[in-house]
Amino acid sequence: MPTKRGPPDSARLDRVVAEARRSRDEREKTYRERALKLFPWICGRCAREFDRSTVQQLTVHHKDHNHDNNPAGGSNWELLCVYCHDNEHSRELEAAARDGPSAADATAAATHRPFSDLAERLKGGGRRDA
Ligand SMILES: [Zn+2]
Ligand SMILES: [Zn+2]
Repeated sequence: MPTKRGPPDSARLDRVVAEARRSRDEREKTYRERALKLFPWICGRCAREFDRSTVQQLTVHHKDHNHDNNPAGGSNWELLCVYCHDNEHSRELEAAARDGPSAADATAAATHRPFSDLAERLKGGGRRDA
């Protein structure tokens, strides 16, 4: 009987990862089921209605984006179809991306202007002196 086989550590790690994944899935399933019991099966954005055969496309959005904030009354939840949910999150990413470059542009313009001003003043001043 061979004593050297695969390292037992990787098997243990696999089990830990699987357990973490399972407990996360269970937690998500729990708040999803609670939300589906609490609210009508309608997307909060496009008002699409869902039934037993399509409900897997209905997702729970966390209004404050904290998936650990699951108050019993469901005040942090919003039912959104997968498309609107996607939209909801990409809109925030776009907004963040839009704020970034424009702020950088403003800074660049502010630091750039004094130099072009200076160049014009030097040019004009030189001509006036001559
Ligand atoms: Zn929708
Ligand atoms: Zn969300």
